[in-house]
Amino acid sequence: MNFIAKALNLSSSAAARLEERNILRKAFIKHPFFSDIVEAFRLDKKFGHYEDGTVIVKAQDGLRVFRGFPKIKRILTINPALKRHFGSRKIALEEKMNGYNVRIVRIGENIYAITRRGLFCPYTTEKAREAFTHDFFDDYPDHMLCCEAVGIASPYVPNEVYGIEGLDFFLFDVRHSSTNEPVEISEKIEIAKRYKLKLAKILKFSTPDDFESIKKVVGQLDKNGREGIVFKDVKMELQPLKYTTSYANASDLRYAFRFFGEYSRDFMLARIVREAFQSFEFGDDKEEFDARCLKIGKAILEPMVESIKRCSQGESIYEESDLIFSSQEVIELFKMHLRFLGIDFKADVSREDGGYRVKLKRVMRSTTDKINGILEGRTWK
Ligand code: ATP
Ligand code: MG
Repeated sequence: MNFIAKALNLSSSAAARLEERNILRKAFIKHPFFSDIVEAFRLDKKFGHYEDGTVIVKAQDGLRVFRGFPKIKRILTINPALKRHFGSRKIALEEKMNGYNVRIVRIGENIYAITRRGLFCPYTTEKAREAFTHDFFDDYPDHMLCCEAVGIASPYVPNEVYGIEGLDFFLFDVRHSSTNEPVEISEKIEIAKRYKLKLAKILKFSTPDDFESIKKVVGQLDKNGREGIVFKDVKMELQPLKYTTSYANASDLRYAFRFFGEYSRDFMLARIVREAFQSFEFGDDKEEFDARCLKIGKAILEPMVESIKRCSQGESIYEESDLIFSSQEVIELFKMHLRFLGIDFKADVSREDGGYRVKLKRVMRSTTDKINGILEGRTWK
């Protein structure tokens, strides 16, 4: 453990506090696929100025710290929230893509993918090694690429809307690994060009008072089934803010109510509150308001009734995703990773040209049991 205190530059009393709080967790499964890593731990909660998801690595060639990706605060109204936060600064409107957060890093000889909570994911790492060259890391050895991993072949957030069959990475921040200092938007654009990296789309440069055109962007995203916007100070001196479309609120609700035993009431309530503020701010007329009510009502009831029907036919409730692997060794390692995360799953492997397809089913035990209980005549509580 000594290396952690050293890597984080902790005084001996801070090191003792870290120990006491019991927030260090194993960040990886030891395996030849992760050959550059000797030991790695993650912070499961914020500690001092270190974000949760911060990873501390003892590598073959030294100690490394990869800071957790900072939380992005959410606004529920565009006006006056943007002005209050950004004043009259120039801001970039970036597409908020709906996948999962990964930090792409290089340790020793290889590229690694770290998920939001600070775990080295074998599947994402295999995909990242196929998608990224070492060029960026040769020039920026102390930086990490913060990307959204999106596509159909996603174990955590499968999404068809981007038309990506496999899994691809879209860069949204370039940050110094140990200080978390981001580069400005203009430098990020330069980096993406120079190293041929795909960027999360920059939709528009604007100012916080430009409500009408921002509202138009929201409308476009909504129509195209996209999640929302991240507003960023072009200098990256202020924290970004996020805002989601009605489409995203409805599809989150659909998902949460399909698996209502697994998802918290907070998650559901938050989406409904967001929708209410948008309806108010956008000044829905009667027709728009009715359409919104119908959409939200359906997003809540349809998936639940669907789940009840499934259980009544003797099926269990599960989430399915289709993953594509290049190596069998990584499939086995990924299964260990899921077990390590405590996920209840089944995996069917089949060969496919040049690799393997894995059908992953995550059983939603709590939703299934709740529904079956009620169908057998038990009370809700
Ligand atoms: P938070 O990051 O605020 O803790 P969360 O984990 O609930 O929230 P989201 O509500 O999805 O996540 O919003 C933030 C996430 O959005 C980021 O962590 C990142 O993975 C993702 N994201 C997608 N596109 C962008 C973008 N252009 N800029 C920044 N983040 C983006
Ligand atoms: Mg997200």
